[in-house]
Amino acid sequence: MSVLEIRDLHVSVETEQGTKPILKGVDLTIRTGETHAIMGPNGSGKSTLAYTIAGHPKYTVDSGSITLDGEDVLAMSVDERARAGLFLAMQYPVEIPGVTVTNFLRTAKTAIDGEAPSIRHWIKDVKKSMTDLRMDAAFAERNVNEGFSGGEKKRHEILQLELLKPNFAVLDETDSGLDVDALKIVSEGVNRAKENTGLGVLLITHYTRILRYIKPDFVHVFVAGKVAEEGGPELADRLEEEGYDRFLTAEATA
Ligand code: ADP
Ligand code: MG
Ligand code: MG
Repeated sequence: MSVLEIRDLHVSVETEQGTKPILKGVDLTIRTGETHAIMGPNGSGKSTLAYTIAGHPKYTVDSGSITLDGEDVLAMSVDERARAGLFLAMQYPVEIPGVTVTNFLRTAKTAIDGEAPSIRHWIKDVKKSMTDLRMDAAFAERNVNEGFSGGEKKRHEILQLELLKPNFAVLDETDSGLDVDALKIVSEGVNRAKENTGLGVLLITHYTRILRYIKPDFVHVFVAGKVAEEGGPELADRLEEEGYDRFLTAEATA
């Protein structure tokens, strides 16, 4: 079992108006095999948390810690974080001219495992995952992210997740822009990774829709840069009915 621990995390971002504090004391503990949903209104700092875990240079950690089995994640480079078993979907959002999906995946797998995968198993694994995700074989020969539709980008993310076999995945708004069929296929991919490898998932979402397909064990409501309420899956049901109004009202009068 592995544990990802976030303790009293304060993060700010540089803007044209100066330094803006965004995360104001986030505490979270995620174990492998668990799925945690982070839900909250727009602008509450959900993506900032994801970017901070990913090591995005724009976000400055002012205080607090992120550790993975006791190791200081904040001291790790982006590559080291991946090798340590963290999967951050937004890590490779850019187009990579001249690099095909198949070469990209093999290079990433080799970098993360420290050795090249055996060709025979690798080709079989890639084919199986692509079939499971209903991806056309021709997709493997396309250049990474070049002209990918929203749905193709998400499938490519989940393809990476299935093949790279991380311990933890941070999925930020994986549901956005997906139609119901694509959402089901992508969710099934996440659920397979949970079953097959005991993946721990930090599922960040504004809407409850994806939680019908990927069942959270814990739900954390994010408001104004910190966790305002925590519970089990029933909390997501309540948010689906009530929305975030009661949290926003509480924030305004605080
Ligand atoms: P969420 O994902 O919950 O919608 P974000 O983390 O994207 O929230 O944003 C939280 C707050 O921080 C917002 O007010 C947003 O405008 C601000 N913010 C986030 N990133 C930046 C940035 N790179 N530059 C300026 N402001 C930012
Ligand atoms: Mg937002
Ligand atoms: Mg966001």
